[in-house]
Amino acid sequence: MSDIAVNLADVHARIGAACEKSGSSVEDVTLIAVSKTFSADHVNQAYAAGQCHFGENKQQEAEWKIPLCPSSVQWHFIGQLQRNKVRKVLPMFSMIHSIDSLRLASYTNDLAHELGIFPKVFLQVNLAGELSKAGFSAEELWSSWDLLMGLDRLEIQGLMTVPPVSEQPEKSRHWFAGLRLLRDELQQKTDTRLPSLSMGMSGDYSIAIEEGATHVRVGSAIFGGRDYGLTNSP
Ligand SMILES: *Cc1c(COP(=O)(O)O)cnc(C)c1O
Repeated sequence: MSDIAVNLADVHARIGAACEKSGSSVEDVTLIAVSKTFSADHVNQAYAAGQCHFGENKQQEAEWKIPLCPSSVQWHFIGQLQRNKVRKVLPMFSMIHSIDSLRLASYTNDLAHELGIFPKVFLQVNLAGELSKAGFSAEELWSSWDLLMGLDRLEIQGLMTVPPVSEQPEKSRHWFAGLRLLRDELQQKTDTRLPSLSMGMSGDYSIAIEEGATHVRVGSAIFGGRDYGLTNSP
C-alpha cells in the first residue's frame, strides 16, 4: 500500500472509533481529503484507495488540478471565497463550506439564479470572534437568518467552523460543541433543517466527530506535510 492508502486506513479507523464513542454511525461522517498544495497525483492515489471527496481552498489551484483528476471526484470548496471567484467556483465544486457573510450568500444566490443551479453550501461561523478569520458571528447569524432563508437558490446544509489554532486538540472541543448548540438552537427556534456540521481537521477530527461533525476536513494526516510552493502550478 502507498503511504496515502496507509494514512487513509488509519484515518478511517480513528473515525470509526470516534463514531463508536459518540454512538453515531460512520455513514453519517463524510471524510474530505484536503488536497490543497498537493499534486493531482496525490489525489489520484487517494482516489485509487477509495477516497471520493476532496477539498481545495483556492480557485486558481483547483482550476489546474481538477481536470487532472477523475471526473467522479466530489470537490468541496473550503477556503475564503472572494466575490470575483464565485462564478468560476460554482460549477467546479459540489459544495461550498465557506459562505462567510450575508453579502456573499446573497451574491452567490444571484449567480446561482443566473446559472440555473442550486448550490449546496455551509455557513461559516467565527465562534471565537478571531479577527484573522472570516465568518458570521452567532449574533450575525441570528439577525441575518430570515434574509438567508429567503435566498431560494441556496441549499444550506448546515454550519462550518475553524476553531482557534491550538497545540492541544482538546481545546477545540468547546468550539465544536458550541457550533452544534448553535445549530440545534437555530433548527428549533426557526423551524429549519440544518443536518450538517463541517468541523474538524487533522489534529482534532476525532473530537469533532464526538461533538457531532458530519463533514471532517483532513489534509496533512492523509497527505503529509505541506509545501506551499505547489499551489500555483502542477
Ligand atoms: C487546510 C485546511 C484544512 C485541513 O488542514 P489539516 O490540518 O492539514 O488537516 C481543513 N479546513 C480548512 C478550512 C483548511 O484550510
